[in-house]
Amino acid sequence: MRSTYRLGRVAGIEIGLNWSVLGLLALLMWTLATGIFPETNPGLGDNAHFAMAVVASLGFFASILLHELGHALQARREGMQIDGITLWLFGGVARFAGMFPSAGAEFRIAAAGPAVTAVLAGGFVGAALIPGVPSSVDGVCSWLGFINLALLVFNLIPALPLDGGRMLRAALWARSGDLTKATVRAAGTGRFLAIGLIGLGFVMILLGDGVGGIWLAFIGWFVLQAAGAEARYVQGSAPGMLHVRDMMTADPITTSPGATLEEAAALGRDGDPYDAYPVTEDGHVLGLLPLRVLREVPPGEWPDRRVGEFTLGRVEAPVVTGDDTLASALAALQAAPVQSALVLEGESLAGLLRITDIEDALRARAGRTPSPASG
Ligand SMILES: [Zn+2]
Repeated sequence: MRSTYRLGRVAGIEIGLNWSVLGLLALLMWTLATGIFPETNPGLGDNAHFAMAVVASLGFFASILLHELGHALQARREGMQIDGITLWLFGGVARFAGMFPSAGAEFRIAAAGPAVTAVLAGGFVGAALIPGVPSSVDGVCSWLGFINLALLVFNLIPALPLDGGRMLRAALWARSGDLTKATVRAAGTGRFLAIGLIGLGFVMILLGDGVGGIWLAFIGWFVLQAAGAEARYVQGSAPGMLHVRDMMTADPITTSPGATLEEAAALGRDGDPYDAYPVTEDGHVLGLLPLRVLREVPPGEWPDRRVGEFTLGRVEAPVVTGDDTLASALAALQAAPVQSALVLEGESLAGLLRITDIEDALRARAGRTPSPASG
């Protein structure tokens, strides 16, 4: 990843610059110097327009950096570790390590960036309104006020991955307690927005505004990609969001209450280690047989003792469903007398979740877990 260069540190947070920013900076300076400032400040010469363009472009990137620092500093206040800030084509991305600690924390982190942008917009508009400021300062401040206002409105659209989408996701998450569902809904509005932008872009191209249309379609395409990535992120690739269904042993070895301990002991001779077997009878799930009974009961008694005597019933044995997340499965296992949980779908046995299944799943996912980002 040599496309990002280190700029330095601000408040202990590393700032990176993607090469695409240099291209955008040049394009922006050219547009401002030759198109926008000659129109807003016609009385000034080319050199003054060029100087204004340089100051305004740098002010624009400083505004984006301050917006991202708002996210990052709030994240640090919420106890999150910050990997750094990268400035690139569409503004900035603050990178955090780990998942958001709570819905409230995510809401405050998402809102901190637009709050900074709102203050900047107010400040620049206010500076432009001061009586007697030179025309060039007025031009630069007006443009920076306008662009920060535009950034504020765009960022507050309630569609992931925009800040407004994160605030919406946090609100849905707080209400339902289900981060995955909240993300899928907020990403859905993001996809809706993206398709609208792409469509509008094509309409503009057809109407003759080729550059504006391509830009709009390109931003739509970016939002579409990012919204999809957000949804995929919570739907499986994050360790906290692994689901029982993805980890469990789907077709576990089972035993029945009438079987002898001798028969139960023979079940696991070859194959993976089980620490408990589901006990079923005529399709009904009765509970779990913990294998530690084989250590507690002398082998001489095994042929005469029945599995039913030692079965942990459905109240004592941990029970989860395929939809449960890793976090809730671990909570169920923590309080349990065995290190396996019955996975039930309705009343039937869908699988067995063993602690070794969880270890295998985590090992398989290690190394390909992206960290959440905030734009
Ligand atoms: Zn933001």
